[in-house]
Amino acid sequence: MSDKIVIGDFEFQGTRSCCMACSGLIDKFDMYAITAAGQDRFVVCGKCLERGDIDKTLAEEAARIRAAIPERIRNMEAWVAHLESMIGRTIVPTYAELITAEQEREREYEERERHWKEERKREIEERRLRRERGEVDADTSADLWP
Ligand SMILES: [Zn+2]
Repeated sequence: MSDKIVIGDFEFQGTRSCCMACSGLIDKFDMYAITAAGQDRFVVCGKCLERGDIDKTLAEEAARIRAAIPERIRNMEAWVAHLESMIGRTIVPTYAELITAEQEREREYEERERHWKEERKREIEERRLRRERGEVDADTSADLWP
């Protein structure tokens, strides 16, 4: 190829992302290099820049992915066969049953939260009463909780 791909800008985001050269993780707020505006987006991580030889990195990653293609194809074929084997014998709940289950879970969560808050109030009241009776409790940090 004769057209140069210029990766000369820098950027960071508040989310994790992936280096397109080495497939490595780019952590939150880590700065990385990107192609200039107007070119197809390509992201290169700091580790690749530190390593220095981008052609070597691109070649190694391409070879690694190429080597994994046959296994990926086998896995996809196995998954397709599995899905096809489920046709005609799979029974699922209705969407309405899902909504009902979600509402039930929400009620359970709210009930647990209500119970937890009552428990905390009761603990704080018990500590207050113990202090009034002169039974000093060394751990008063729990009183700071709502
Ligand atoms: Zn990289």
